[in-house]
Amino acid sequence: MLGLPDAIRGCLFDLDGVLTRTATVHQAAWKRTFDEFLRAGDPQAGEFTDADYQQYVDGKPRADGVRDFLASRGIELPEGTADDGPDADTVQGVATRKNDLVQLELDEHGVEVYDGSMRYLRAVKAAGLPVAVVTASANGEKVIAAGGFADLVDARIDGVVTAREGYRGKPAPDTFLAGARALGLEPAQAVVFEDAQSGVAAGRAGEFGFVVGVDRVGQADALREHGADVVVDDLAELL
Ligand SMILES: [Mg+2]
Repeated sequence: MLGLPDAIRGCLFDLDGVLTRTATVHQAAWKRTFDEFLRAGDPQAGEFTDADYQQYVDGKPRADGVRDFLASRGIELPEGTADDGPDADTVQGVATRKNDLVQLELDEHGVEVYDGSMRYLRAVKAAGLPVAVVTASANGEKVIAAGGFADLVDARIDGVVTAREGYRGKPAPDTFLAGARALGLEPAQAVVFEDAQSGVAAGRAGEFGFVVGVDRVGQADALREHGADVVVDDLAELL
């Protein structure tokens, strides 16, 4: 009924881009942050592209995204501290700039959900399977509440939990493994739903029972290469 192998006993959902339409909010905030940063250092610098987002940033903890993208342009910044303000030219400062833009956008425009994902989530719950949301976002709790589906979520491993527990972010499997543990499941009993290359890679690295790639931007082949067992455009295709 759910398009999953028989061994699956619970579901681990990424948030931005899988359940909610907030991946575009993050991508736009990253683009503005990096384009302004790059141009300040070199007016001729090439802009931050969709491919940069998908390859270096999407799905990762914020600071990892800053480090990995800037490294691809041969730029290394001092790490700074989590208290750095948005004007600091440090990894943490650039991350703060990006988060400020996301907060502004979410406060102004709210959170839209994918209807197909909500139908699927309700079917999962009706089938008696527990649900964890596993996201790098430090705004996980707020986005779930604003999306109106907190009652369908049994456990949440978000950026706040990740930092507190010292987990490595995606593409490391730590956060998905923590999600499975929170549901009382072995990795082989859990399915990972992800729209990011780093996220399906985490699903493969953790040897989960099944990895569903959710292709919102025409990167089905890349999702398969990085670890998806199956790729869908919309979760309702699995119903
Ligand atoms: Mg995502």
